[in-house]
Amino acid sequence: MDDEQLLRYSRHILLPQVDLEGQEKLQLSKVLIVGLGGLGSPVALYLAAAGIGELLLCDYDRVELSNLQRQILHGVEYLGKYKVDSAIDRLGDINPQCKVSGLTEAVSEEMLEQLLNPTINKDSKQLNLSQDSTIDSTIDLVIDCTDNLTSRLLINQACVKYRTKLLSGAAIRMEGQVSVFLNQGDGPCYQCLFSTTQADELSCSEAGVLATTVGIIGTLQAQEALKILMDIGDIKDGSLLLMDGMTGDWKKLTISRKPDCLACGKV
Ligand SMILES: [Zn+2]
Repeated sequence: MDDEQLLRYSRHILLPQVDLEGQEKLQLSKVLIVGLGGLGSPVALYLAAAGIGELLLCDYDRVELSNLQRQILHGVEYLGKYKVDSAIDRLGDINPQCKVSGLTEAVSEEMLEQLLNPTINKDSKQLNLSQDSTIDSTIDLVIDCTDNLTSRLLINQACVKYRTKLLSGAAIRMEGQVSVFLNQGDGPCYQCLFSTTQADELSCSEAGVLATTVGIIGTLQAQEALKILMDIGDIKDGSLLLMDGMTGDWKKLTISRKPDCLACGKV
């Protein structure tokens, strides 16, 4: 780490739990963030600022005026432009040392295979990455910041299949949740908790969401991500943290593995 990096990350390095070793782990980390909306905004901002080595961003949406009430990554200058391009510029301004690449297409099984399958050589990956970027290493963690159950189940299935750690977040109205799945042993997966039969959920465009609710949940995802990547603190496989913003109550639960789960039951 050079003098500039030591200064930039000095408040991290002062923490005994982080120290130089933790900061170096962050610099060697590669994270995939799916969704650059209300949750993805604080996740991407904090992870870039905190010194993650590589961020890969996936979102096919363009910035709309109704996004700006809560999606703090984007501004009026980027209305009508891809969220990925807005994010790459903003994150580059915060921390030019963080390598950021983007994919402006909807998350799909094929794309996740290209990204997560460790047997696909980096030179043979078929991805439409922005700004001539490449994927140099295996993804350490996937952060799900999407706004629909179909995408979440798809991302979960790929993470189970390729044994990739997954942090999932969701928020609506003034309620939110964060769940952690390490996918390393015989722990549960996201689908053990949420089955496809619940696919008719409401979206934020129908039910509304308070600006700070996505901010809190996204920031919590970013914090859990830093802990997972540095391997510090209490990280419990299958933990589910629920927030009720109206009452200010938090609940912590542990998800059990469902033997007949369609995603992880046969793995
Ligand atoms: Zn499962």
